[in-house]
Amino acid sequence: METEKVKCLIVGSGPAGYTAAIYTSRANLSPVLYEGIQPGGQLTITTEVENFPGYPDGVTGPELMENMRKQALRFGTDIRRGIVTSTDFSRNPYKVIVDGKTEIEAETIIVATGATAKYLGLPDEQKYAGMGVSACATCDGFFYRKKVVAVVGGGDTACEEALYLSGLAKRVYLIVRKPYLRASKVMQERVFSTENITVLFEHNTVGLFGENGVEGAHLVKRMGEADEEKVDIAIDGFFLAIGHKPNSDVFKPWLDTDEVGYIKTVPGTPKTNVPGIFAAGDVADPTYRQAITAAASGCKAAIEAERYLLGQ
Ligand code: NDP
Repeated sequence: METEKVKCLIVGSGPAGYTAAIYTSRANLSPVLYEGIQPGGQLTITTEVENFPGYPDGVTGPELMENMRKQALRFGTDIRRGIVTSTDFSRNPYKVIVDGKTEIEAETIIVATGATAKYLGLPDEQKYAGMGVSACATCDGFFYRKKVVAVVGGGDTACEEALYLSGLAKRVYLIVRKPYLRASKVMQERVFSTENITVLFEHNTVGLFGENGVEGAHLVKRMGEADEEKVDIAIDGFFLAIGHKPNSDVFKPWLDTDEVGYIKTVPGTPKTNVPGIFAAGDVADPTYRQAITAAASGCKAAIEAERYLLGQ
């Protein structure tokens, strides 16, 4: 296997990865960036981003990411397709294998691999994969024009997905396991004031049914309580919006993570337990998980990488 030596390797292409790329390119670190499974990251499957400073009228997620990519390219970032399949951080230069076949030796690495949508873990989610089950309303909502869909979750993502789908579908059920929404007030208000969204509080999904695709969901109201009740709803599409899992598995042999898998960093910095390896964005952020906080941590990681290389 041929080995390529680089000063700075960036893994991931969300706001954290691209911001790190812009900063490290401008600092002459000649970064190589691998885009990963979902080039552009989670924002490529979101709709309108209204809270990223500098866009008074909002911007679409894909457009924002394309702009960041172009900005990284402008300063010479070497952007490549590829997924890190194994790592060896036992000594510097650190080794990374991409797609099982390309070995990269890097003096410093910025891990910005983000997080991936979670599923409930029901066998029916597998059974109906691509046949009515989706974790991305923006990607698949189009197929449900004038149909009935359900979104599971009570956070901002679930509300955002429900609102997006309400513009396409005839009716949207929002299935929430608690008696309240966790989403921000503004999102809650939008959901409650949308005529074709029905919020089903205190409902859990236990299964899906249908002949050639999803035709409905088996729900249980107040599950585990004395007055628990079985409820079936007729739906054509079932969307998951119940949070994310950090994409840290391939780094776990070397980097400390919390019990969920978020990479642990020295508070206030992107420093991991391995000198010269930094973590930025959602893979290391169980708390804020915003595009702007990811971008900010990518900037910090780039500055730390530069300092680390100067100190070597
Ligand atoms: P959250 O972790 O905030 O919410 C997850 C939701 O899914 C919760 O309501 C949770 O329920 C529910 N849930 C989790 N597991 C299950 C399960 N097994 N069965 C049923 N329900 C389940 O994730 P989000 O993806 O919504 O948001 C992540 C972060 O991104 C947040 O900080 C959010 O504010 C931010 N965000 C901001 C947006 C914006 O500002 N435009 C848009 C999207 C996200 P419970 O409450 O009971 O735990």
